[in-house]
Formats: sequence, structure tokens, C-alpha cells
Amino acid sequence: MTEEQTCAKCDRDTVIFREYEGRGLCEEHFSIDVNKKIKRTIRKNDMVKSGDTIAVGLSGGKDSAVMLQQLVEIFGDRPDIEIVAVAVHEGIDPYRNESISAAEEMCEKMDVELEIGRYEDYYDLRMENVVDRLEKSNCTYCGIMRRDLLNKLSREVGADKIAIGHNLDDEAQAIMMNHVKGDMKRLARISGSDPVDHDKFVERIKPLKDLMEREIALYSKLHDLGVIDRCPHVEEGSLRPIMKSFLNRLESEMPGIKHSIVSQGRELSDIVNENKDFDSEENQLRECERCGEPCSSKVCRKCQLLEEVEKAKE
Ligand SMILES: [Zn+2]
Ligand SMILES: [Zn+2]
Repeated sequence: MTEEQTCAKCDRDTVIFREYEGRGLCEEHFSIDVNKKIKRTIRKNDMVKSGDTIAVGLSGGKDSAVMLQQLVEIFGDRPDIEIVAVAVHEGIDPYRNESISAAEEMCEKMDVELEIGRYEDYYDLRMENVVDRLEKSNCTYCGIMRRDLLNKLSREVGADKIAIGHNLDDEAQAIMMNHVKGDMKRLARISGSDPVDHDKFVERIKPLKDLMEREIALYSKLHDLGVIDRCPHVEEGSLRPIMKSFLNRLESEMPGIKHSIVSQGRELSDIVNENKDFDSEENQLRECERCGEPCSSKVCRKCQLLEEVEKAKE
């Protein structure tokens, strides 16, 4: 199949064949296309404005490494836009030490300031001391705390936005998980942004949300960005990893299905958002009575989970 081996834009060999587009691209045209897609996502969703300071959530993994490199490429020369990086250490060694070193190295090379926050300092907790002893899956606790800490760090560096490295696969998984659980409230958050009308809540943007995971992985390989970011404590039996492998199987049988799940999920989410009064009272943001962070109930989810973690420590 010579067709598949020659770039659709020039006569060089392809590095990728996109079944969902029916065309292949060479290294150069693939890289140009990745940059174009990210720019388009940012523009279409009004993600960045003049005067913004953007905190880039950096894990050292491929997604966030590509995101930082791209944001620096797109906005690095703009004097009216500032980029800083924020990273979280959950207390899982040596896994996180390695990716934090990668993050530090990257920031130094790109001349970006990096702020690191540790669960140990903020929550008096190292994940590796409590994993597998908790009521819910490890990732549930870690995910909520990471989100809380990234928000706090972004505030501390004076950011207007926080950029999260979620890709199209992550979004497809989230949409399908919300369907399975029948969670309309979370589904509504897919297209609508998070509740932002609280001054302690830094607006989240997702510049990679229209790119597939495998394309980001390829880009990171071609440009030598990021390290393998695979937490050793992910439980294979929890819903997300199951949904992930299910969607990968579907995509290989039906190229393009992830894109259509995401576009339908966003559309549905818009409709839910328009009819949102179903939980208007819960949408009111207030401050957690324990930690003061913005949340929708008396005590935030992170503080509730921390209480469970304390019990597991005993
Ligand atoms: Zn080409
Ligand atoms: Zn709280």
C-alpha cells in the first residue's frame, strides 16, 4: 500500500496514518498539524487572553510535556502573556521523583519557572503510605487532592488560568464513564467549563482536548519530550482503565469513534447546560468550612476524603 506510506502533503515517508482521516503525514507535516490543532482549540474556545498568566500543570509525562512545549512555542514571544509551570508530588517514590526531575529539566531548558507542591507539606500525607488501604480506589483520593493542590499552586503563582493536559481520549473516557454512571451533572461539565464564578477557583483550560493520546505520544517521541508517567498504584479493575481499553478496541474496529463520542458528548453537555436549573442550588459555590477552598457543599470532597485517609493511617 504505497498510498499509506507517502505523506498526503509531500513525497516523504509517513510517520502516522490517520484511519479517521484516510491520510498519512510525514514527521514535519504531522508536527505542523499538531501545532495547528492546538492553536485552533485555543482560539475556538477563547482559552487565552492578552494579560493572562497561565499555569501549566506539569507531571513530567508526555501529555503535559507536549502541552508546555506547545504553549511556549505559541505564546513564548508574547510580552503580554506569561507562562509558569506547576507540579504536584504525591509522595510516590521513585515514580514521581523521576517525573519531577524530568519536569525540572524541561523548565530549565525552556526558561519557565516551576512551582512544586507536595501532599506531604499541604496534607501531611504521602500516598505511598496509604495506598490499597483506602475505601475507594487510590486514584479517587489522589485525583481530588491533585486537583485541589494544582488550583492552590496556580493561585500562589498568580495565574489566571490553569492548563491541564487532558486529551481527546481522556475526554471520551470521561463522557462514557458519566453515561455508565448516569451522572448528568458531570456530563454537563464536559463542554461547559468548571464553575469559575469564585475568586479562589482558577479557570481550567484544556489545549490538548482535540488531540488523540496516540498522536501526542508520537509527537513526544519524535521531539523527545516527557518521560513515561505511569503510576504504579493504578487499579486495573476500576472503571477508567476498563473504559480506556474498551475505547481503544472500539477505535481499532471503527476508526473515528472516539472523535464522534467526544463531539456528541459535548453537544449533549451543551443541552444539559441550557437546562441546568435541575441543580441550581448545588451549583452555588461556597467555601469549605474546614479548608476554605471553593466547593458546592459544606465540607469539600477533598476534606471528606482526607478524613477517610486519616482513618486508614491509624
Ligand atoms: Zn509531508
Ligand atoms: Zn475542604
